[in-house]
Amino acid sequence: MKPAPFSYRRPTTLDEALTTYAGEPDAKVLAGGQSLIPLLSMRLAAPSMLIDINGIAELDRLEVDAAGVRFGANVRHARLLADVDAGRVQPLLAKALGYVAHPTIRNRGTTLGSIVHADASAEMPVVLALLDGTVTAASAAGTRTISARELFVGPLETSLRPGEIATDAYVPALAANTGVGFTEIARRHGDYALCGVAALVATDHTGAITAVRTGYLSVCDTPTVVDVSEVFMDGSFTDRAVDDAAELALGSLEPETDIHASADYRRQLARVLTTRAVREAHDDCLARRTGVSA
Ligand SMILES: Cc1cc2nc3c(=O)[nH]c(=O)nc-3n(C[C@H](O)[C@H](O)[C@H](O)COP(=O)(O)OP(=O)(O)OC[C@H]3O[C@@H](n4cnc5c(N)ncnc54)[C@H](O)[C@@H]3O)c2cc1C
Repeated sequence: MKPAPFSYRRPTTLDEALTTYAGEPDAKVLAGGQSLIPLLSMRLAAPSMLIDINGIAELDRLEVDAAGVRFGANVRHARLLADVDAGRVQPLLAKALGYVAHPTIRNRGTTLGSIVHADASAEMPVVLALLDGTVTAASAAGTRTISARELFVGPLETSLRPGEIATDAYVPALAANTGVGFTEIARRHGDYALCGVAALVATDHTGAITAVRTGYLSVCDTPTVVDVSEVFMDGSFTDRAVDDAAELALGSLEPETDIHASADYRRQLARVLTTRAVREAHDDCLARRTGVSA
């Protein structure tokens, strides 16, 4: 199929893009086009105009410091994945980006576009949610910062308002004595996952567990984060506690049945992958303490 007719603008400044968007409420932003173009071709979206943000140089910025990583709307998955400093400051970015589609799609698709597309099967929305990241949104009326908790409001739905362009996202650095893990199962490497789990394990300076959180993609209809710290309350990391963490998390998940997998199968995947991701995050934490990279 071919897209329904639309007009096309390629502004070179953010101000120009925001003014155009304010006057064209049925427009859509075009970033990498790796999700939007198929939707147009299948006529699942029929915007009046595409506002192509690829010519806006200020959205190309990628800034890394000791506090965290900020990436603009035009930063491709591949660039973020290859950025050594970003991977050092927040290793979960690179761990998860390696699972996003194939290199050709990562060369074109943007990480922020993936986040605001808010597909619950995508890796980066759940990474933003697990890390308590934020997205900055600009419109003709001004700029605001949206926490990941407020951003994902439904299937493929965010709290971005009409006329708002997401300009950049921010994820905090990995704190000291903390580790991260990411794992998923897909039918073929590069496909959307049948189920994926991200995990974060925090300890105190003695190595006692202080917090464990897990994040799920392709399980519920929105990216979902569960705090399972309570099963590690005595601070020790045991096989029993890891299994209990998976059971606790399952209580907060309502897996979906679709053409790819039944809810029961997804529940079992979520159970097994939770234990793997939590162990990986703990190993990562130990490796950082001893100075040996995981
Ligand atoms: C074959 C294939 C396999 C894929 N596999 C995976 C996968 O395994 N995991 C995964 O995570 N993704 C996968 N993707 C999707 C890919 O990661 C996309 O790049 C991503 O979902 C969207 O980013 P984009 O820059 O291409 O956005 P676009 O397609 O340009 O836009 C997507 C949506 O977000 C909106 N949007 C984009 N940027 C902004 C912005 N700055 N402000 C406001 N709105 C904005 C658009 O208007 C549109 O509604 C796959 C894509 C393909 C084609």
